[in-house]
Amino acid sequence: EKFKDGLTKTRDSFSGKVNDLVSRFRKVDEEFFEELEEILISADVGVMTVMDLIDDLKDEVRKRNIQDTKDVRPVISEKLAELLQEKEEDSNLNLQSNAMTVMLVVGVNGVGKTTTIGKLANKLKNDGKSVLLAAGDTFRAGAIDQLEVWGERVGCEVVKQQEGSDPAAVIFDAIQSAKSKNVDVLICDTAGRLQNKVNLMKELEKVKRVIEREIPGAPHEVLLVLDATTGQNALSQAKTFSEATNVTGIALTKLDGTAKGGIVLAIRHELDIPVKLIGLGEGIDDLQDFDAEQFVYGLFS
Ligand code: GDP
Repeated sequence: EKFKDGLTKTRDSFSGKVNDLVSRFRKVDEEFFEELEEILISADVGVMTVMDLIDDLKDEVRKRNIQDTKDVRPVISEKLAELLQEKEEDSNLNLQSNAMTVMLVVGVNGVGKTTTIGKLANKLKNDGKSVLLAAGDTFRAGAIDQLEVWGERVGCEVVKQQEGSDPAAVIFDAIQSAKSKNVDVLICDTAGRLQNKVNLMKELEKVKRVIEREIPGAPHEVLLVLDATTGQNALSQAKTFSEATNVTGIALTKLDGTAKGGIVLAIRHELDIPVKLIGLGEGIDDLQDFDAEQFVYGLFS
């Protein structure tokens, strides 16, 4: 139900257009596929992904000898699900069962990084885990306070220093604190300015080195937060961040705020990084584990 509610805008737009197309075209022909291609592109599925999808669809339609456009509709949802399930096995968060899990959260300012950290902390706490937050974004004005507000709301401690201090030092402190308190999950915020790519990379590298040195095998998860409403921009941010660091998963926010939820398909298909979490609203409970089947159901039902 959460998926259904959160994907209302995309569903109304996408399903609506597909239904309209099916009613206008009775017979499956080249023009039908061309219009379908446009619908998918307008939902931000991404040109490369759309071309692969359409090729697959044409093959399937030929194989099954489908003539009537209304019989293509279920094949579309089948193919969308297949595409999303390509990498299904690695869409779970990498949580350690008998040791501390360290997560590094990266992303450009404004994408919903702080909110996602808050929601994620809440979700983990609801699963019975103890969580500590590290205010590693010492650059953006207000970032530390905002994280503290979330800390209070969720009921977990936030390790911080003053604005402008060295993020690596904050993370180091947080790790010592997490170790002494034996917490299950340490979530580290980072700065999100992209204006200076070289500095950003250096800073992320430094933070990562501290984590690696203090806890062998960590960070267990480097989560990149992307804003679904920014469409193809999100894809290019993903490329930039994967050049800077080894991103292990994506949290895609604000899917509720866009009719272009097709970006999930582009990300899944064109990047080698699984979508692990999706944000479907501003509330504390509006973060879900990504689930391909539910996603496609949310698009079509
Ligand atoms: P940051 O700069 O990346 O830390 O971004 P914030 O966490 O401050 O979020 C920016 C804005 O996006 C805030 O107003 C959030 O409430 C909003 N936001 C974050 N995630 C979602 C989401 O999944 N859906 C919606 N509708 N808004 C979101």
